[in-house]
Amino acid sequence: MISASCNCGVVRFELTEAPSTLGACYCSRCRKAGASAMVFIKKESLNWVSGQDQIAVYRPQQPYKYKRCFCKICGTSLGEVLSEEASFPVSANVFDGDLGLQVQFEEHVEDKPSWME
Ligand SMILES: [Zn+2]
Ligand SMILES: [Zn+2]
Repeated sequence: MISASCNCGVVRFELTEAPSTLGACYCSRCRKAGASAMVFIKKESLNWVSGQDQIAVYRPQQPYKYKRCFCKICGTSLGEVLSEEASFPVSANVFDGDLGLQVQFEEHVEDKPSWME
């Protein structure tokens, strides 16, 4: 079982199946959300442990469409963890252990700040 949690520990979930894809996006929206590294997970592999009701959703204005979930208490960026899609991105930062994945694709590399390798 792969466990994930926010900084304060209120939001917790587990995956029954390891995510297969890790991508990095360097656009300013992902960067400001603290979610540049994302893994894609299957909804069917996600089991909630706690804190689902403590998640707030930021809905950006058009043309941006990706909703951003975060813990209402500590602000940890959770990606699209409340999505109804069969597969969706979740912040790689929330996993308690190392997923053992390398970045497989990068987006908006031209927006990468100079302090980021
Ligand atoms: Zn939290
Ligand atoms: Zn982005």
